[in-house]
Amino acid sequence: MRRGLFVGRFQPPHYGHFHALKWIVEKGGVDEVVVVIGSAQESHTLRNPFTAGERFEMLLRGLRETLGSSQGFIIAPVPDIAMNFVWTRYLEMLLPSFDVVFTRNPLVARLFEEYGYEVRMQPAFDREVYSATRIREMMLRGDARWRELVPSSVAEYIESIGGVERLRRLAGGD
Ligand code: NAD
Repeated sequence: MRRGLFVGRFQPPHYGHFHALKWIVEKGGVDEVVVVIGSAQESHTLRNPFTAGERFEMLLRGLRETLGSSQGFIIAPVPDIAMNFVWTRYLEMLLPSFDVVFTRNPLVARLFEEYGYEVRMQPAFDREVYSATRIREMMLRGDARWRELVPSSVAEYIESIGGVERLRRLAGGD
């Protein structure tokens, strides 16, 4: 039984994340994937509009839609800590054990490498198109094409919680 780790903020989860998770399952040589919802303490800001629970819901729905099931994925919300140096130990304390880390985030890669973990980089899937920053910008300027960048079940969930309206209110003045 070999386990992989995949960390993200998922604000919101998009096809880039789901393609990456599919690649990890099919080509990453692991039987299970621990998916960490990072910055779990954050919500209701322009950079982090969604709560950890909302992102959890989006990941479950998106996995079911794109991979047919969320089985084999262990999802864990984890708040940030102020000390990068001990973050890897902190994750080890909170999570089931894992053997290999999949990331394209240079900080995440560096911290795990310094700690002796095997780190692999999943391919970039249309990185310029599938980007959470871009999705939030599209939501803010009223460009409805953001819906094409996430699974439809994720788009429907975001709409059901008034996610776009929340982001636009946060951007407004007093
Ligand atoms: P993210 O949601 O931007 O990305 C998650 C993963 O998906 C990354 O590996 C990214 O490269 C990949 N990805 C995104 N789009 C892709 C695409 N189109 N194709 C292929 N891969 C794609 O999240 P992130 O910013 O990498 O998340 C890191 C999390 O770890 C943050 O929450 C951060 O706060 C946390 N962190 C915390 C500490 C600490 O607490 N001290 C330290 C380091 C990191």
